[in-house]
Amino acid sequence: MSDFIALDKRHIWHPYTQHLTERDPVIITGAKGTNLYDEDGNEILDMISSWWTCIHGHSHPALNKALSDQATTMEHVMFAGFSHPPAINLAQKLSALLPDDLNRVFFSDNGSTSVEVALKLAYQYWKNKGEDKRRKFLAFDLGYHGDTVGAMSVGKGCGFFKNFEDICFQVEMIPYVETWDGDNDIEEKEKAALTKIKYIINSQKDEIAALIVEPLMQGAGGVRFSRPQFMKAITELAHENDILVIYDEVAVGFGRTGKMFACEKIGVTPDLICLSKGLTAGYMPMAVTVATDRIFNEFLDEGFGKAFIHGHTFTANPLACAVALKSLELFEEEKTLKKIAHIELRHGEQLEKLKAHPLAFKARVMGTALAFNLSENKAGYKTGGGEFLRDWYFNHGLNIRPLGDAIYLMPPYCITDEELDRAYDGLFAGLDAFAQSIEVRAA
Ligand SMILES: *Cc1c(COP(=O)(O)O)cnc(C)c1O
Repeated sequence: MSDFIALDKRHIWHPYTQHLTERDPVIITGAKGTNLYDEDGNEILDMISSWWTCIHGHSHPALNKALSDQATTMEHVMFAGFSHPPAINLAQKLSALLPDDLNRVFFSDNGSTSVEVALKLAYQYWKNKGEDKRRKFLAFDLGYHGDTVGAMSVGKGCGFFKNFEDICFQVEMIPYVETWDGDNDIEEKEKAALTKIKYIINSQKDEIAALIVEPLMQGAGGVRFSRPQFMKAITELAHENDILVIYDEVAVGFGRTGKMFACEKIGVTPDLICLSKGLTAGYMPMAVTVATDRIFNEFLDEGFGKAFIHGHTFTANPLACAVALKSLELFEEEKTLKKIAHIELRHGEQLEKLKAHPLAFKARVMGTALAFNLSENKAGYKTGGGEFLRDWYFNHGLNIRPLGDAIYLMPPYCITDEELDRAYDGLFAGLDAFAQSIEVRAA
């Protein structure tokens, strides 16, 4: 065991980890492009972009430079009463990229805080308008929005938060309709779900502040896709009933679904949008909640009472803003959306083979995400297959970390064809090894 592992085991409390049974962590000492390097110099292909963050690849020269240039100019300044060019330029660029009048950028530190901000803005918006009966939120089954208390409340449908249910606030859960390649019943499933959702909205609309949704792709809940037309119908239904719509694009923003933002692909404008994971291309923890002008205007008043009294110490950290701005410029300079389209094409070529595999169900591709499940119906979150495969893939140089029984790839956009081939070969080889292990156990 290396010194680092021993010290880690003595002093560190890792996220999502049962320390009594967890295997030793892998000490990573370098990262470049699509690869991670461990202490012994082993190369590991980062097929999930380190929790979906490093969209342009690790340690990109242009991003490194943006970060170090900013560090030598100004590392940080408080953000109430002060502002600075990196934040202003980033906010302007984001507003230009986002549809319609999503023009007001509120900075925070991570996906969860961006969700808290959106929930609080939606709630206070109605209060400011004098409607103080609107205390409920609508959220989807299996949706995930982060680990802070507000985010847990709207994410209770994902099942991760059983220990905290008693301290979560009231949320009305509505059915999500997942789909995959060759899903023949999708029209009926969506129709049935919409009927249920309409009923819930009709009976409670005066009490609902907002609907929150992960548009097109539920991430942590199992990389479950939905159709743009379903998302559009839900969004329009909410708007027709005067319910605000929050798009949690923390995971899907910045190209994951094939378009820069999922709302663009759906063809609607939410009232609030949350962005984080890809925002700084994996460099710095930062998030934004962007509001429409209509929301912002409702917070204007001669008195202080209607202001949004919320902030974080590191709000709009200049280092994070500078690297985020450069990341957006890279989309143009490196024609990143073209690379994304190419990855989608390559993923698509794997679909038939996946659909023919006896261990793969619900094979699906959207943008840079390829996913399938090890069973037809969702099993428990911790399944033997997922654990087996995580270890097998890692031992074969691939960082592929299943979510329950959902196996997925979400590589950095800089991935080469050769690296993709290696990942696909490994993906199938791992499945075969798993099939063999089941047969051995059964024998
Ligand atoms: C990861 C994630 C979050 C939470 O982000 P953190 O940075 O981990 O707090 C919220 N919403 C979605 C959709 C996410 O994928």
